[in-house]
Amino acid sequence: MIEQISVNLHIQNQQSMNRELIVYNTLTRKKEKFEPINPPFVGMYVCGPTVYSDIHLGNCRTFISFDLIYRYLLHSGYKMRYVRNITDAGHLEGDRDEGEDKFAKKAKLEQLEPMEIVQKYTLGFHEIMSTFNTLHPSIEPTATGHISEQIEMIKKILNNGYAYEADGTVYFDVEKYIKLYPYGQLTNRKLEELLEGTRELSGQDEKKGRLDFALWIKAKPETLMKWPSPWGWGFPGWHIECSAMSTKYLGETFDIHGGGMDLQATHHTNEIAQSQASSNVSPVKYWMHTNMLTVNGVRMSKTAGNGFLPNELFTGSHPLLERGYSPMVVRFFMLQAHYRSTLDFSNEALQASEKGLKKLMQGIETLNKIKPASESSANIKKLSDDCYDAMNDDFNSPIVISNLFEAVRIINSANDGKEKLTKQDIESLKKLFNDFAFDILGLRDDSTDLSNNSIDGLMELILSLRANAKSNKDFATSDKIRDELAKLGISVKDTKEGASWNKE
Ligand SMILES: [Zn+2]
Repeated sequence: MIEQISVNLHIQNQQSMNRELIVYNTLTRKKEKFEPINPPFVGMYVCGPTVYSDIHLGNCRTFISFDLIYRYLLHSGYKMRYVRNITDAGHLEGDRDEGEDKFAKKAKLEQLEPMEIVQKYTLGFHEIMSTFNTLHPSIEPTATGHISEQIEMIKKILNNGYAYEADGTVYFDVEKYIKLYPYGQLTNRKLEELLEGTRELSGQDEKKGRLDFALWIKAKPETLMKWPSPWGWGFPGWHIECSAMSTKYLGETFDIHGGGMDLQATHHTNEIAQSQASSNVSPVKYWMHTNMLTVNGVRMSKTAGNGFLPNELFTGSHPLLERGYSPMVVRFFMLQAHYRSTLDFSNEALQASEKGLKKLMQGIETLNKIKPASESSANIKKLSDDCYDAMNDDFNSPIVISNLFEAVRIINSANDGKEKLTKQDIESLKKLFNDFAFDILGLRDDSTDLSNNSIDGLMELILSLRANAKSNKDFATSDKIRDELAKLGISVKDTKEGASWNKE
């Protein structure tokens, strides 16, 4: 049966399947041959956003990187189930079960229900993701929708002796776990290194060990989001949701788990521990992590004041930006770096990407005008092979892009009469761009004219800016946007689900 299926796969996409796909596995710190547990099926779980504020650009890079990976695996003929969760409960400000609940804090600040916060930022997240032309995951489960699964998993961990309850809160017993399992495996850290950055326990602490983390947290009288459990009213810890939901939809062991590099040390390390402690299996075959963003060489962060939001990048409304850049330019810019390298934002680099994307799209246009020659002076097959080799080498998008630029050079030379392309060459080049520029890199031509897509994107952007103005009670701006759009023949209607627009 499996043999039969792999033969079909081979036929579906000979070029990509002929070669071995190699992926870098954070768990082993090696590049490994990609062999799904149950081919042709591939299960992939990516930690999604915590929807209590606007999505930041670092997260966008993670989701765009996994979109590239998802698109390539689909292109290669795998039957994908891509799960990306929405964290809508249980995320405290500190990653170590300390501080205020992120949703409750924001709800108080904006005078909204926590679920209104969740709804608002989930919609905002989806809008940004579609502006970047990312494909939807197969399932997008929420933490609040899977409380009973999380409680069941905690019960299993308790029954297996790797957790303990203290006054309505359940902690994972890392000190006990570490005696049997390599807890610091994902970041290759020893116990002493893991203990760095944790605080000494005082007599007041419920925790037995400094590394122990909460699986279930007792509700305080003022806690808004809480659920009944065998340990009383409370809410789940942050890490348990991903273990419970990935197990539910992908099984106890699945192929790929991804996320930002910042999740390795705590969140993903704890996910592995939870799965081992409840089912005695290592949950993931290939752990994959995306690297950080920097701005002019400095790590991007809110505290450094250099963390711009996607909308600020599109409009240029951040002091560090000379002007705005379209979502496709930003996507292209991100794909010009390998997902495991840091990526540095600067005005010069963004402008270079803008020029590059324009050149690429113009090359595709020029291709339609070329008159076929009877003989060929170019090796298009090699270009295509090189693109597949690059993708098969741990999804090396920058090398793919450099090959696409080489294709553009050939096209422009042929247009100037310096190279010869046969009808077959021209068809192969069209296929090359369709496969790699559009299907795999997920680019869209939004540069030359205002296509419906870009008008949609533009309107989405304008309406989100108007929604921001409204939520800041800046009604003068929100009314001005509505009135100016009306003058252009575009009517805006406010509904419960947000604003919609129509061209009259
Ligand atoms: Zn997660």
